[in-house]
This record gives sequence, structure tokens and C-alpha cells, in this order.
Amino acid sequence: MSPQSAAAPAGHTEAVGRTEADRRTETAGRTEAVGRTPARPPAVGVAFADTDALPGLPATLHSKARTLRGAVRSRCADLARIESPTGDSARLNALAEELGAGYAATGAQVRRVPNEAGDHLVMDWPGRDESLAPLLVVGHHDTVWPVGTLADWPVEERDGALTGPGVLDMKAGLALVEGAFALLADLGQRPHRPVRLVVVADEELGSPDGRKLVERQLAGAAAVLGLEPPHPDGSLKTARRGSSRVRLTVTGREAHAGNDAALGISAVDELVDQLVLVRGLVNQPGTELNAGRITGGTRANVVAGRAEAELGLRFATPEAQRRTLDNLAHLTALRPGAKVRAEVLSSRPTWPVRPANPLLRHVRSLAAALGQNLDGAPAGGAGDTNIAGARGLPTLDGLGAVGAGPHARHEHIRTDQLAPRIALLAALLAVPLPRLRERA
Ligand SMILES: [Zn+2]
Repeated sequence: MSPQSAAAPAGHTEAVGRTEADRRTETAGRTEAVGRTPARPPAVGVAFADTDALPGLPATLHSKARTLRGAVRSRCADLARIESPTGDSARLNALAEELGAGYAATGAQVRRVPNEAGDHLVMDWPGRDESLAPLLVVGHHDTVWPVGTLADWPVEERDGALTGPGVLDMKAGLALVEGAFALLADLGQRPHRPVRLVVVADEELGSPDGRKLVERQLAGAAAVLGLEPPHPDGSLKTARRGSSRVRLTVTGREAHAGNDAALGISAVDELVDQLVLVRGLVNQPGTELNAGRITGGTRANVVAGRAEAELGLRFATPEAQRRTLDNLAHLTALRPGAKVRAEVLSSRPTWPVRPANPLLRHVRSLAAALGQNLDGAPAGGAGDTNIAGARGLPTLDGLGAVGAGPHARHEHIRTDQLAPRIALLAALLAVPLPRLRERA
């Protein structure tokens, strides 16, 4: 696939031609944010001894990240060559094994959480200050691409883009975070606070099982970071729409379509009418419907006894989500004798926009210290960080690789953006977090 020919977004190229004055202006905000946390002497090493001013750190991270980017690029390619569609437990487990080995090599304790449709992974890295609440990072190792996709779409790099099934969503994110820990390990350093990375196997299905695992980690987390791809210009994701997957099942009665049509109740006809009705129900601002799949009936001379549809719904507000799911739960059949049932297969709550966002301010200031100009914006898609954001936890997503085309044949990452991301992630792990919420 040919990569997008657009020039690199100005804000996300590495600092070139930036003046010292520019840098001072950018870091002014950072000092304020970081300054809220009383300086705490690090337990080990000297590289981070002066994090308030970050004198040597940005340069160190910057140059180390550039050294590591080749390894991270190869790692991403290798991970993408292990196909891992949701539900294929053998392949997902093979990939989990590979991922676990990589994270273990950077000092993580790795735990597999058994799941029939593919194991989840939990990694723990010790922090310099083990008494602090952990930083939670969430990702997934399943992809939307069926086995065999690699045969006609191999992983390859061309014109600064690495393309292949699942590279952006999110094999690169998984490789980047490994690279960030490898960078710290190279420096003989630990993250400031303990870090827990949860990688689930069923995210692309709405995390029907993985969600429980993510939810269990939220209570004690200081902040939550997601490894999903950022916006195409590299901006982080600061809020996301809610999303629900609903199966509509219609039961009718089979009959000979020629001799006994009057005895039959067509589930297909009922489903068609229900879909029109549902389209009316969701026709409100902030709600979107995609009738993603419909099936039903057996053959032309049999009145269909069963039909179903799988609906994908998106919501801008928690109220719209609640109201719509409530309406769907109360659908009734239009034909006497038919039955309609709506079943929520998976659901992610709306993660609303928070105008004051100290976590974004912190990341923006770290990026500025590294010579990157980074911002955040709300996003349309949903992910596991929705659960954290909906609960009001300090949450940011989009810390994965910069690229375009998730779930599409032009999916790719921009390899020139790997080093800035490795450096940013390493800084986020190494530098103390400012105070992110009001005390309860
Ligand atoms: Zn994803």
C-alpha cells in the first residue's frame, strides 16, 4: 500500500530549527505543572535527579530514543507478522508469549490471565518509589484482520511508512512501550512509580472479557494511559464517544411459502421493520447507528423462522447511550406471534470531555521539553480507556504510534515518528506526575 503522501505534521517532527527562546516558552507551562508536586529525591541514579528543570534528561531521552527506533520498528514488524485476529486463541496466545518475553527482558513481571478466546497479559514494573499508586497503561494484542491477510498484504516499509495488518492498531503501540522500558533499563533507571500494563485479547470485540480485567485495575491507579493510535496528526485522545454492540434476534415461524404462507411468521420481514423502527429511534443528535451485519432465513420457499442483526451504536453523551439502550430493551414485535430480543453484546461508556485536564497539560509540557509540540482532542472511536475516563480518572489515550488507516487496507505507521514517541513514553514513565485530581 502506498503511504499517505502528506508531509509530516509540523507539530510532531523532531525539533529542528527551534530556538532557545521557543523552548523556554514551551517549558514555562511544564515547570508550572510539574512544580505542583514537591520534588522528591529519586531512589537511584543521577539522570533524573533534577526533574523539575530536566536539564540533561530531554537530550538523553532524545538521543537514546533515536538509537532504539530501529529495534522498535523491527519489533513492530515482527509482532505484526504474528497474525492475531480476535477469537483465535492459539495465535493470540503465541503472540502473548512473544510479548511477555519482550516485556520481561525490560524488567517486568509477566502474568497470563487465562481466557478461552485468548489469554490477557498483565505486566508489572517496579517504580523508584514503590509506595506510590501505580500508573496504568492499557493495550490489546488482537486485531481485526483475519488469518491469511499477510499473504496478500505483507508487512513492509516504503517511503517512511511501515504498513501491514494491525501495525497501527496496535502492534506498534505494544512495541513502543517495550522500547520505552528498554530505554529506561539502558539508563539503569526505573519508572518513577510502579507501572502496570494490561494487554487484553478481545478489545476489537468491545472487550467482553478483558473489560473486567481492566476494571479491576482502575481503583488504585494514579492515571490511565492508552496505547491506541493518536489522531492522524499525532494529537492525543482526551475524550471518546460511548459505544455499544447490540444483537437483535427475531423469532418467527417457518412454513411452506407457497402452500401454507398464512401459517408462517416471517422473521426476516419482522427484522426489516424493526430495523426501520430502530433507525427512527436513534435519529437524534449525538447518536449513530451502523447495521453491521444481518442474517436470516434459509431458502426462498420457506418463510424465515429466524433472523438477526448486529448493530454498532455510538453516543456523544451518557444520556443518549442510556436512553437508546433502554429503548432497544423495550422493543416489541409488530407481528402477532413474532418475538424480538435485543441483547447488549458489549458496551463502553461515554468518556466525556474534561475542560481542565492536568494530565494533558503534564504530557504537553514533557513533549515540549523534548522539542515536540503535542496537543489533545476528543475522538470518535471507543476503547478500554473509555471505562477509566467515564469514571473520572485522569486518562489519556493515543500514546501509540502515529499513522493512519486503522481497520483499513492502508493502515500504516510513520517510522520517523517512532523516536519522538519512545522518548515521550519514557519521559512519562520517568518523571513524577503532578497532582492530577482534587483531594477527596
Ligand atoms: Zn485498537
